[in-house]
Amino acid sequence: MGFRTDQIHAGVTPDPATGAILTPIHQATTFVQPSVEDYMATGYSYSRSANPTVSALQERLAVLEDGASAWAFATGMAATNGLFTALLNAGDHAVVSDVAYGGTYRLATKVFTRFGVDFTFADTSDLDEVAAAVNGRTRLIFTETPANPTLKYTDIAGVSEIASSLGIPHAVDNTFLTPYYQRPLEMGADLVVHSTTKYFDGHNATVGGAVVCRSREHAEAVGFVQNATGTIMSPMVAWLTLQGSKTLSERMDRQSANALAVAEHLEGHPKVAAVSYPGLASFPQHGLAARQASGFGAMAWFEVAGGAEAGKRLMRSLRVWTLAENLGSVESLITHPATMTHSDVEEAERLRVGITDGLVRISVGLEDVEDLIEDLDRGLSLV
Ligand code: PLP
Repeated sequence: MGFRTDQIHAGVTPDPATGAILTPIHQATTFVQPSVEDYMATGYSYSRSANPTVSALQERLAVLEDGASAWAFATGMAATNGLFTALLNAGDHAVVSDVAYGGTYRLATKVFTRFGVDFTFADTSDLDEVAAAVNGRTRLIFTETPANPTLKYTDIAGVSEIASSLGIPHAVDNTFLTPYYQRPLEMGADLVVHSTTKYFDGHNATVGGAVVCRSREHAEAVGFVQNATGTIMSPMVAWLTLQGSKTLSERMDRQSANALAVAEHLEGHPKVAAVSYPGLASFPQHGLAARQASGFGAMAWFEVAGGAEAGKRLMRSLRVWTLAENLGSVESLITHPATMTHSDVEEAERLRVGITDGLVRISVGLEDVEDLIEDLDRGLSLV
């Protein structure tokens, strides 16, 4: 089936008891067993281990990413934590993109190092640097592309080739582009991570995450850790994500078109010192962005002439754009990564990878693009 059909139908069949077209919210702790001999005949016993509403979403995510199976987690960070816990042991080493969501850096440096895992934060846009970062203890290469917030791209097929030649799994955080635009498993990656909080939900209603696995072996390892640690998604969140994901392609196409129009406008604006959007010809990795994905997404960043203080004044004066941390929703959001999403990354490391104090990140939503541009123009005229 095509993507648009799958995003609506995959994982969902009419409820056998009532015919309800939507999978019900199975808000129950436990599932009654017909007899001890028939224990687990329905596949369900206790909602930490499996829940039918969550299973429906997991099946949809596996189909959309073309994986063997998927696990839905409480948040995107719970998903990354589940993946790390499943694949890394004390004494192991992992290579992680040097630009990634700040929470991923925090999880690696402040939690997993306590358990004897060490990390190299490499510029994964440079394949030589990836190869050089690997050592005899490396058990995972984790890339985020495009990366939050600088939008640095990693060549997924190139890194997957290095990883597979060494027998190391390659996991990709595909939150920014989703499988609608970018398909890491088809390019040789082994696992995909999502914050479903972002585009899959799309409505600022939930926090959730997922790990999609290409192999049964990885699926078993991640599923075992999830059940052991209890980091599951709730049935209510799974249900809301099932509804949000039905319009994923339509939202992404419209939001990306809005993002291009906003970026083009800002590029010519006298009050703007720099603009970055993968769909602009001026984007340094425009060629890779066009080759690797079928769309450029709806994330961009810019710097206001006048630096960080001017940027903060702009963020205070906007009316249609909302100053908030999330991304990927229908509401257009504006964020200051240095104080918000990446505040736990040490200043020197943040500046080294290009997350400057003046960088303003925008997640372009679904509003009328004229209103978004007019609001930015008005705000910029005041800084
Ligand atoms: N991955 C990326 C690229 C993100 O932007 C985020 C959150 O902003 C996460 C993972 C973590 O997701 P969550 O906030 O759902 O835990």
